[in-house]
Amino acid sequence: MAFITINKAHFFHNLDLLCAKAGGKTKLMAVLKDNAYGHDLRLMASLASQYGLSRAAVKNIEEAERIADLFEEVLVLVDHPTAKPLSASISLAAHSYEALQALPDGTSIHLSIDSGMHRNGIKEEQIDEALALIHAKKLRLRGVFTHFRSADELSSEFFWQRANFERAKKRIKALIEHYGLPKTAFHSCNSAALLRTDTIGDDDYARSGIAMYGYTTLDPLIATYDLKPVLALWAEKLSSRVLKKGERVGYGGIYEAKEDELISTYDIGYGDGFFRFDGFEPIAMADGSLTKGRMSMDSFCLGGDASKVCMFEDANPLARQFHTISYEIMTKLYPALKRVVI
Ligand SMILES: *Cc1c(COP(=O)(O)O)cnc(C)c1O
Repeated sequence: MAFITINKAHFFHNLDLLCAKAGGKTKLMAVLKDNAYGHDLRLMASLASQYGLSRAAVKNIEEAERIADLFEEVLVLVDHPTAKPLSASISLAAHSYEALQALPDGTSIHLSIDSGMHRNGIKEEQIDEALALIHAKKLRLRGVFTHFRSADELSSEFFWQRANFERAKKRIKALIEHYGLPKTAFHSCNSAALLRTDTIGDDDYARSGIAMYGYTTLDPLIATYDLKPVLALWAEKLSSRVLKKGERVGYGGIYEAKEDELISTYDIGYGDGFFRFDGFEPIAMADGSLTKGRMSMDSFCLGGDASKVCMFEDANPLARQFHTISYEIMTKLYPALKRVVI
């Protein structure tokens, strides 16, 4: 049966590098959203916790509840305000003034600041009224954060946004003192921002996702790092046969044997979350061997009869071929595929 390997040594190697950059294990929040970028939420949360990280961020409340026991704090990045009782370690990102209004009194929150990406967060002009509302509703302000839109690009936009966030921080710190609210944590850097800076400044921690899993989209002219991919996808042989010269294999009969050849079918298809290929442009496996014909929902074909094949251990070539990013190649992988820690 097809399976995914998770390389623990590579994961810890990446965490060593990121924690050294951020200033220690307390300075890194593990971003485990979307099933830990397809790696497996509970498994990666256990490894991150075993490594010594105490904070995680996830997509929604359902994901947060699945790992709430493993961390001091689990931040929900993308969910709707709810009155549902939550585990004590869970806090919700509040992305607008309306969200602050909708949240029940006393909810633990991280206030999201729009420092220039304009995807989420309150504007600088709304800070005063937001803090007044937080005070009035006794919302527990555990964090204040922003997100960079171009941290990986060779441009000054990152520095512009960072300056905007620094100004917002100053104002929020003054208001926290004014209202006598408890100290809050500030955070802004994603993987690319952390990797391009020498310090996270007076932020309390960075939120890293993709770099923990061994990838970066950071422009190599800014910096390069020895990150190691954590996930590899393996398919196992279902059956073999000889394709006679002139016979064609799979849907549409796209691939034709030039001479008699041994061919095998393997148990991964687009139903497992692998990008579907139409057979006109073959896909290279980790060892360089090329697919033959079109991918089916649950299988694809290769020459030879190896009992198993590593489809990829580096998502970058696939990302290039499918005009996407490593994030998407991994996030799409079917959660029910077996994970094996190596
Ligand atoms: C996904 C996400 C991150 C992590 O980004 P990476 O590029 O994977 O490090 C950090 N913060 C927020 C708000 C996110 O949505």
